[in-house]
Order: sequence, then C-alpha cells, then structure tokens
Amino acid sequence: MPSPFQLRGAAFVAILFAMGRMASGGFFEFGERPLGSEANRQAAAFLGAEAERMGYEVQRLPFKCTRWERGPSFIDRGGERVEVFAGPFSPAFDKLCDAVMVTSTQQLKRTKCEGNIVFLRGEIAKEPLMPLDFPFYFPDAHREIYALLDEREPAAVLAVTGKHPACGLNPYPLFDDANFKIPSGYLDEAAMAKVLAGKGKIRLKLDSKSIPETGEQVVIRKKAAEESKGKIVIFAHMDTAYGTPGALDNAAGVEVLLGAMERLKDYAGPYDLEFVPFNGEDSGMVKGQMAYLDRFGKEMDAIRLGINIDAAGAKGSKTAVSAYNLEDARQAWLNGEIAKHPRIERGPEWVEGDHSIFVFQGVPCLALTSSNLREGVMAISHTPQDTIDQVDQGLLGEAADFIAGLVNGL
Ligand SMILES: [Zn+2]
Repeated sequence: MPSPFQLRGAAFVAILFAMGRMASGGFFEFGERPLGSEANRQAAAFLGAEAERMGYEVQRLPFKCTRWERGPSFIDRGGERVEVFAGPFSPAFDKLCDAVMVTSTQQLKRTKCEGNIVFLRGEIAKEPLMPLDFPFYFPDAHREIYALLDEREPAAVLAVTGKHPACGLNPYPLFDDANFKIPSGYLDEAAMAKVLAGKGKIRLKLDSKSIPETGEQVVIRKKAAEESKGKIVIFAHMDTAYGTPGALDNAAGVEVLLGAMERLKDYAGPYDLEFVPFNGEDSGMVKGQMAYLDRFGKEMDAIRLGINIDAAGAKGSKTAVSAYNLEDARQAWLNGEIAKHPRIERGPEWVEGDHSIFVFQGVPCLALTSSNLREGVMAISHTPQDTIDQVDQGLLGEAADFIAGLVNGL
C-alpha cells in the first residue's frame, strides 16, 4: 500500500506538471507562472478543480492585471554595446540621449533630468522600491523618489544595482510597478564601468511591453459542522516572479496547502476552514490578495488562526515555524505540536510574506518556511535555479501533517 506521503508525492508531481506544461517552450521544469500568464490561469484552474474534487466549496474571484514581456536591451555608447535589463513593466524605449548620474535624493532635487537618461547609483539605489502606493507598506523615502522622478521628467531611468536583499537577483530592478510610466532598466557595476569608459551620448534600447490580462483568486472553503467558533485560514502563494520556475517559492508551499486540504477534507470540527492559494505575492500588484480582501476582508475579526506556507521544504533544512500575535497558552500548545515532528522547529519572525497582511491586523498567525530561508532559499529564489531538485518532498508531507494536527487540535 502506498504511504500517504507517496500519494501526496503523486499530487505534487501533478501540480508541478500542470504548471510546467504551460512553460513557454518547456524550458523550465516547472514553468514560471507570474500574474496574467496562461500558466498562472491554468494553475488557478487546477487548484479550484482539485478542491472541488475533495468536496470543498470554491469561489473564484476574477481580477484584471498586467503581463510583461521583455527582450534583449542594451546601451550603445560610441559603438560599444553594453547589455542592460529592461525593468518589469517598463515602456519600450529606443533613443539617443545625454545622461546624468544621481546618487541621492538630495542630488535628484538639484539635477536637471528632463529629456535625459538618469542613472541612479549608490545610496538612492540601495534597495528595491516598493510599488507606488503598495497597500501594505510604502515608506516615505520611496514616495519621495517617485515624486521627484515624476516632476523631473527624465527620458528614462537606469538603476545600478547589485545583489537583491531578499532574493537571488543580481543585479535587481529598482522599479517593479505596472503603474510606473517612465521607461526603466537596470545594470550592475561592471556594466556601468563599461558605459563610463565610453564617450558622448548614449543610445538606450529597452525591449519591453505590458499586456492587459486577467487572473483569478481561488478561495476554498468548508463550513464548520455545527455553530462556527471562527475561521482558520491556511494560505500559500501560487504565483511566481518572472524568470523563475518557482519550486521552493512557492510550488512547494502550494503542495503543503493541497496536502493539508486532503487531510482535512472530512474535518468536522467547530471552525470554518479556508484555504487560499494567494495569487500575486511575487507581483507588485498583489491582485489576488486585494480581490480576497475586497470579498473577505470584513471577516478578518473572525480569523482564529492564519497559517502561511512560503519557501518551505528546502533540501538540507527543517521547517521553521514562526508565530505572531499568539497568546501565551497557545505558545505552549504550539511547542507541543512542533515537538511531535522531528524536522519541524521554531524559527525567527519574518515579514516578507502574505502572513503580514493578517499579522498587521492583529490576527494570530503562523508562518512555515525553511530553516535556511535567509542563507539558502533567498539566494536562489526568483532565479532559474529555484527548481524541483532543491525540494525535499518528505518535508512537505510532514508540514501538511503538522498543519492538519494543529487544525484538528484547536
Ligand atoms: Zn514566496
């Protein structure tokens, strides 16, 4: 008889296959599935169908979004061609311009940018900017940079960057925002040195385009058997960034979500259950999250526990469980549940995930990730290296067991 884990392994292969089949040209083992892509819609349809097969009620919340395509981009200065990267959702661009270099917000205020290519380097480009008016977190320093660029009207903006603080991109785009209308791109210091070695005006060509698309936020629900004592929400984002097959980030989390759904399909306890494959965590547009909040945000107070799974299951790691807004009595209970599983442990709090949406509202939450999140997973996430061979499927089955145990014991 196959073990439950083997059964789950088969389903894992099924979802990866479903996602992978949609990959352009089949180059990636999984296939990237950013918001608005056909792979993304197929993955959402697959998850809805799986939930219905298990007997859950499924709601599908449609949204409009933007898909992005890019091709080779470059700077040409005096016949010397240097590769650059078009920024996500940048308008296309191909012009010969003068260029200026800006390293701080103060300097940006004093620099004539109109009609020029502006290089942002150093202090001003030290961290990726949140998308304009990002609903969950938007620092004033970022707002000021957007406002100044808007006012100064550069022809294009090129950021000189290095290693991204929270994923494997190197260099990284400073702007990742479908609403940012100034053509933008990025390059690393080595490429910048080549540009600086040239003389005269700069031709910048950015091959990039945005296409209006649609997507779907699937919400999977099961009502409490008797009078409800509140809601338990379990979630894992199903979308990827561009340019990655997204195995650890976060097909593995979706597999844990599916595993928990399978284990809880006959749940007859006192809580309403909700399973949410959030669609937009790796997009600045967070469309699925917004659609969810539009429809179910008013039920926030009813949530007794939220559980996020993101970047769990890395080979050579354990599953790290961090807790937020949890009462003391629940802490002890959680430690007891963790102790039942050899490869699950307590981990530090982190904020770069969908649990933050709930944590900031005071909802008790847990987040499951890999114990090597910072030094391991983040080094490859959002890159082509985030492939299935990085995933330890045994950890995923254990995590699903753990979640089912929590829900049944609450
Ligand atoms: Zn993620």
